[in-house]
Amino acid sequence: MSLRYLPLALAFGVAAPLAAQQQDFSKVEVKAEKVAEGVYMLTGSGGNIGLSVGKSGSLVVDDQYAPLSDKILAAVKAITPEPVRFVVNTHWHGDHTGGNENMGKAGAILVAQENVRRRLSSGQFMALFNRKVDPAPEGALPVVTFAEGLTFFWNGDEVRVFHVPPAHTDGDSVIQFVKADVIHTGDCFVNGSYPIIDTSSGGRVDGILTAADRVLAAATDKTRIIPGHGALATRAELQAYRDTVKTVRDRVAKLKAEGKTREAVVAAKPSADFDARWGQGFMKGDAFTGLVYDSLP
Ligand SMILES: [Zn+2]
Repeated sequence: MSLRYLPLALAFGVAAPLAAQQQDFSKVEVKAEKVAEGVYMLTGSGGNIGLSVGKSGSLVVDDQYAPLSDKILAAVKAITPEPVRFVVNTHWHGDHTGGNENMGKAGAILVAQENVRRRLSSGQFMALFNRKVDPAPEGALPVVTFAEGLTFFWNGDEVRVFHVPPAHTDGDSVIQFVKADVIHTGDCFVNGSYPIIDTSSGGRVDGILTAADRVLAAATDKTRIIPGHGALATRAELQAYRDTVKTVRDRVAKLKAEGKTREAVVAAKPSADFDARWGQGFMKGDAFTGLVYDSLP
């Protein structure tokens, strides 16, 4: 097991992505926050969880790490007696799919975009973390997949799941609870931080912008937005994130078009004026600039 990505994980604090092995989960508390009528956000360690409850049963968006499954199921049970019937994964990363096998054993049907199943089942190498990820066991794989999207008519709501162009990865989905007016963005949006662009999973900065634009188009000032990581967000916060990413992207694109190397572009610090606000989490300005460079055509 490689420890080389541990400092990165520690830098991200409680929401350390993808670093299950090093973490002591016994101390993690899973907390539920009511977002709208019938919709909750659960936090523990890993990606934010979305939860729809009602007489149809529970529908969960993402499931963090396997050692947290009992705590997650207990948090759901504290809200509703109905079982978890569906889990929708926003993408394949282990801090969003680590509980899949346990959720499946508990009776949930696992649902995701087809690239999520493809990447989970085949094993991956994540360049950003210098980390090899083994193929997931059969029981952790989505059993219902889709190419572009699908809709659940569930708990009196219309839950639209739509795939976006390669953004954080090439299997990202956004989940919109139309009636409750809540949108879960997965890691296309990290509230208060630059995004991770997982280029080894096909991620691209332009997809991050397309995803953000699609969510902005679907949202109003009243919409509650559950980001992949970070606090529950408003449309204005997503807009600020989108504008920041867009500005840095355009600056990097200009330098790249001028023929500058990756090193020269990073050294030019095109994100400098944003780093105090957006570069204090896991993703620092220089690292983000490099990933923007790598993922531009
Ligand atoms: Zn992720």
